[in-house]
Amino acid sequence: MTKAAQPLMPLDVAIATILAQVKILEGVDTVDTWDADGRVLAEDVVSEIAVPAMDNTSMDGYAVRSVDATHSGARLRVTQRIPAGSHGTLLQAGEAARIFTGAPIPPGADAVVMQEHVQTDVQLPDQVVLHQSVASGQWIRRAGEDVAKGAVVLSKGTRLQPASLGLAASIGKHRLKVMRKPRVALLSTGNELVMPGAVAPADMKPGAIYNSNRFFLRALLLRSGCDVSDLGIVADQKQATMATLAMASQTHDLIVSSGGVSVGEEDHVKPAVEALGVLNVWQIAMKPGKPLAFGWLNAAGEPDPHKTCYFMGLPGNPVSSFVTYLCVVWPFLSALQGMAPSASPAYVLPVHFDWPRPDKRREFLRVRRNSHGGLDLFPNQSSGVLTSVVWGDGLIDVAPGQVLRHGDMVAYWPFSHGLS
Ligand code: AMP
Ligand code: MG
Repeated sequence: MTKAAQPLMPLDVAIATILAQVKILEGVDTVDTWDADGRVLAEDVVSEIAVPAMDNTSMDGYAVRSVDATHSGARLRVTQRIPAGSHGTLLQAGEAARIFTGAPIPPGADAVVMQEHVQTDVQLPDQVVLHQSVASGQWIRRAGEDVAKGAVVLSKGTRLQPASLGLAASIGKHRLKVMRKPRVALLSTGNELVMPGAVAPADMKPGAIYNSNRFFLRALLLRSGCDVSDLGIVADQKQATMATLAMASQTHDLIVSSGGVSVGEEDHVKPAVEALGVLNVWQIAMKPGKPLAFGWLNAAGEPDPHKTCYFMGLPGNPVSSFVTYLCVVWPFLSALQGMAPSASPAYVLPVHFDWPRPDKRREFLRVRRNSHGGLDLFPNQSSGVLTSVVWGDGLIDVAPGQVLRHGDMVAYWPFSHGLS
C-alpha cells in the first residue's frame, strides 16, 4: 500500500449508502406472460375471477348427495356422466353422477366417492353400491380455494418465477406489465487478462491469466434480469478508458467493472470515472471483497445522480468479485428494479467444522450443506480460489473475531438468494 490505510467501512453502511442513492428505473414493458420468466412485475396482478371458478371434483368417481350415503352398502342410480369440460344437471334423491377429475360438481351433490370405493355390476350398469359412508364435502375442490375474485395474486416488485407465470395464466392474464430491464455495461481491467480462446493454455505468457470474472459477472447480471453489454477488456490508457465510459454512460443505467480498485493501484478506471462524475472508493470491512467502488458518471456533466449512469467497481480477485456481487450489486439491482428488499436473507444452520482463527473483518466463508443438516467448509478460503464457489452452495456470515465450534449456529446465505 502506498498510502495510509483508511478506516474500513462496515458492509451494512456501504449497502445503505448505495441503496439511498438508487432511483427506481423508469419505464415499463408489456410482455406476454409466456415470455415473462425472470421479469419484475411493475404492477399488482389482480384476479377478475375465482379459481377454481366452481366447485369441482379432485377424483374420478361419483358425485352423490351425502344424505343418500350414510351407510356402507347404499345403492344409487347413475343418471348422468360429467367429464371434465362439461357440466351436469340437478342430482335427485337416490342418484349418483359419474364424474371425472376437474369436472364441476352437479347441483344437488355435496360429495364425491372415489371410483375405487364403489362396487359396479355389469348386469346393472346404471347402479353403484358404496363401500363406505360419505362425508359431506369429500373430494370437492371449492370454488375460489386457490384464488378469490378480486385478490392480488402477484405483487408489484416480485420477480416472476415459473410458478408465477402459471398462476397469472390461471386467472387469464396473457400479458403482464414488467419493469424494463436495467441496461448494464460490463468491463474488465487488468493487463494480465487474456480471453479463453485467444491464447491456448500451453502458449500463455508468464504472468498472463485468463479472464474469469467476465464470464461469471455477465452470467450473474443476466440472472439479475439485466440487458448486458460486454465492453471487454478496456485498454490500459486514460483517454481510451474515458471514451469507453463516456459512451457507455449515455446508453446504460449501470457500468460494472472488475479489478483495479485496490488502494494504490496504478489504473485508469478510477481517474476516468472521477473525471466524468463522482467515485467513492471504499475499503469495506468484509472478507473477501475489501475494495469496492461506487459512483456515477455523466459525460454531459449532469449533477443530479438520479439522471446518470451508476458505476460499480468490483475487486479483481474472482471470489471477492463474486461475493461483492451477491452482497452489494444484487441488492442494488433489486432496488433499481423496484423490488422489495428480501426480509430474511439467511437460514440458521449448524457448522460441521471448527473455525478457530477468525478475521478482524466480517467474513463470508464458502460452505456447502451436507446430508446431516449441517454445513461443510471448503478447505481453501483464499479470495483467488474460484473452486470454492463452485464447490459451495452458499456463504456463511461470520462476525469479526467470531470463533466457530462444530455445532455452532450461523447465518447461511444460499447463492441462490442472489441469483433469483
Ligand atoms: P486487482 O483488483 O486488479 O488488484 O486484481 C486482484 C487480483 O485479481 C489479481 O491477481 C488479478 O490478476 C486478478 N484479476 C483481476 N481481474 C480479473 C479477471 N477479470 N479475471 C480473473 N482474475 C482477475
Ligand atoms: Mg488489476
